[in-house]
Amino acid sequence: MSNHTLSPATREFLSKSPHHLLIDGKWLPASTGQTYQSINPSDGSVLAEVASAGVEDVDLAVAAARAAFDNGWSTMLPRERERLLRGFADLIADHAEELAELESLDNGKPISHTRAIDSRAAANLVYHFAGWPSKMAGSTAPVSIPNHFVYTRREPVGVAGIIIPWNYPLIHGMQKVSPALACGNTVILKPAQLASLPLLRLGELALEAGIPAGVFNILSGRGSVIGQAMAEHPGIDKIQVTGSTAVGRSVIRASAGNLKRLALELGSKAPNIIFADADLKQAVPGAFRAAFANTGQSCVAGARLFVHASIFSEVLEGLLERVRSAKIGHALDPETELGPIVDGVQLETILNYIHSGIEQGANLACGGKRLTEGDYGKGFYIEPTIFNNVHDDMVISREEIFGPVLPVYSFDSEPEVIARANDTDYGLASAIWTRDVARTHRVAAAIKSGVVWVNTYDMFDGAAPFGGFKGSGYGRDNGEEVLEAYTEVKAVWIATRDA
Ligand code: NAP
Ligand code: MG
Repeated sequence: MSNHTLSPATREFLSKSPHHLLIDGKWLPASTGQTYQSINPSDGSVLAEVASAGVEDVDLAVAAARAAFDNGWSTMLPRERERLLRGFADLIADHAEELAELESLDNGKPISHTRAIDSRAAANLVYHFAGWPSKMAGSTAPVSIPNHFVYTRREPVGVAGIIIPWNYPLIHGMQKVSPALACGNTVILKPAQLASLPLLRLGELALEAGIPAGVFNILSGRGSVIGQAMAEHPGIDKIQVTGSTAVGRSVIRASAGNLKRLALELGSKAPNIIFADADLKQAVPGAFRAAFANTGQSCVAGARLFVHASIFSEVLEGLLERVRSAKIGHALDPETELGPIVDGVQLETILNYIHSGIEQGANLACGGKRLTEGDYGKGFYIEPTIFNNVHDDMVISREEIFGPVLPVYSFDSEPEVIARANDTDYGLASAIWTRDVARTHRVAAAIKSGVVWVNTYDMFDGAAPFGGFKGSGYGRDNGEEVLEAYTEVKAVWIATRDA
């Protein structure tokens, strides 16, 4: 463990190891008897043992979730469901420091980030969706058939399986679980093995808030075993998966049996475009944050930076200067800007991408190496890396690296950069930096991605829809659009003619 001070609450939670599965309001060991180790990527230490669920546990969780759905959650008075969810949000807000520490320990995200963003956003998302139950109304349909009145009802889908990755466990967890619950579904959450601890703590808080047994179940374990079993299970009505495009494809195939409703939030290779008229005092630090926040391990990372030729040298120089001053270190150090990579496998993948960039002839402008001296040697640290002289068809231009590696490209015209920005299999996020209003609207309309940020980056809110075009998946989180993901719409026809 690190020398950094942890709050007593975090120490107490960690001491409960081995951590169990949450099924039907009870914490149970896995039916397999197996556990996995939760590792701290900042120093390689073992944080805790966590139950590794088996297929039998999926059956138990499905039965519990179905019973809870049928026995009251789906028909609960909207005001009552809102009250329970607000109580849950209050507890998340009260325990924000502890949740921030658990996430930083488990996935290596700097504590300055988990304190300012992740733990607060988790509470705010639950507050936001807690308001929906009494507001998601149906509508009337102006049909052209005489003597008939038609209205619609929004009804919960049923049992929702939610599978999330390790890079934003608190935010992803609450961004998916809370709208599902608000809409009257019951949930089985599968956190990633690499960052399950903050979600297991959220499970405890949900029980403390009085969320009834079986409404919110948590199965920690291997994606290839229980994620797959959830996708195949006839008792699960809906799967929401956030992860790689490969896993998204596998879930589509596995879920064909009962035609599950699916929502997929997958990979990305977001273009970040700085036009010649941009305010570089904002755009350069913005491009740094876009590429290197969470050490580049973000689905929306600004992973392809396009800079107008007339300002290319100035922007590259500014970025290199910012990268040289970046503080790389233990996630619990409040000064740390870039933490470790989540594990050794991911670190190796990133080093291979850097190697491929060099081999294919891109110019390594800075970084490129694993950090091994002193305390760095215990964890999975890598230098923030920038390439220039990069071609659009190189592997580092096309594939998602999911690490602190930024290729920088020069462009000459707006139509050219739009075409190059869109020349990708993905379409999750993008950004443009410009002071030209007309250009803002032209380019925002032309880029094929689910979100476009203008003179800002990485902004999220429960009120604004978020999701992908193309290979980045389908379905939307947040906004009113999220209701489509967690409800079925029913049309009721009533004959009004006098018998
Ligand atoms: P991943 O390998 O796809 O894993 C995502 C989740 O799926 C994990 O919980 C994983 O379990 C589980 N899983 C693995 N195999 C499965 C299977 N056959 N069936 C069902 N579930 C399975 O992704 P990751 O490495 O954790 O995260 C990085 C990827 O997620 C990147 O591609 C990134 O772009 C994407 N991502 C997208 C968004 C978005 O909003 N679009 C947000 C964040 C991340 P275990 O790993 O625990 O075994
Ligand atoms: Mg971990």
